Amino acid sequence: SAKETRGGTFCFFTSELRDAASKTAMLGERLRDAVDRGELKLAYQPLVDPLTNEVKCFEALLRWHDEDEGDISPAQFIPVAENDDLIIRIGEMALKQACMDALSWPDTIRVAVNVSAKQFIRPGYRKAVAAALQASGLPPGRLELEITESVFVGDLETVDAIFRDLKKLGVRLSLDDFGTGYSSLGYLKHGHFNKIKIDQSFVRGCTENGDTNPAIITAIVALAKALGMETVAEGVEAMDELELVKARGADLVQGYIFSRPITQDQVLAQFAEGSNMFRPSGPPRHRAE
Ligand code: C2E
Ligand code: MG
Ligand code: MG
Ligand code: MG
Repeated sequence: SAKETRGGTFCFFTSELRDAASKTAMLGERLRDAVDRGELKLAYQPLVDPLTNEVKCFEALLRWHDEDEGDISPAQFIPVAENDDLIIRIGEMALKQACMDALSWPDTIRVAVNVSAKQFIRPGYRKAVAAALQASGLPPGRLELEITESVFVGDLETVDAIFRDLKKLGVRLSLDDFGTGYSSLGYLKHGHFNKIKIDQSFVRGCTENGDTNPAIITAIVALAKALGMETVAEGVEAMDELELVKARGADLVQGYIFSRPITQDQVLAQFAEGSNMFRPSGPPRHRAE
């Protein structure tokens, strides 16, 4: 390999690193096979209005069950897919499937699809979104794309042009994991985003007892409101966290307190029962790990 021919570098390529690299390569191969066999599935987690308990949106989350390794988290396999073009195939598959699934939900409910920065900045992305909308017949306003701050490390003019193209299509844009990435507020001034998702790290375990997180949550909510954006508190698990983010004005809540990610069949079963409500249930206070 290239690394072995560069003799000088080879010395620093320790056996630990080599093990990690070959593990990643193996995971990549397994992932490619799983994609070929259609083994990647989507799960849906509700975004709930905490004042009414009504679901407003479901976020599509990839699920992969490997026979030998068990469940493998997207946090683990998405970065592997991003090493090559596999992310494009996976991303387009998730987009198509999510649009199709959402079409059988009540038409007031949106679907949110995660987009890898690498997929987002590729020239064909706008086309892929348009194709998924057309193939499914889903109205563009029911599709939300979740993007992280990491897209803004690229060429800003290119990124800006992609945003404008997507806006023209009529889809909604959501800024995921806000507050953890590339820290600049400059990208908010263009008004691209409809929604800000406050990262779980500010939400989980937050209390009113002198912790700094509630102030950060309040500030993000105020910033979002001033700019005409909705806010979502992510990762709410306990009753006291729910009360806190509600009091601090978060428009929507996503987290185990309302539901873990569920299958499309479970989503449909719930709507068939005539209910669009998710009731909070969880421990009274966050349990420290
Ligand atoms: P994310 O978009 O920030 O998704 C939220 C993650 O938090 C999900 O993990 C969800 O299951 C988890 N979560 C939600 N509520 C709670 C809670 O109350 N407590 C705890 N502990 N966790 C909660 P998941 O499904 O493992 O996804 C991890 C990340 O993988 C996602 O973060 C997203 O960045 C990425 N991902 C998932 N699906 C896709 C996809 O289709 N495309 C791309 N590009 N990335 C994806
Ligand atoms: Mg997300
Ligand atoms: Mg998130
Ligand atoms: Mg995340």
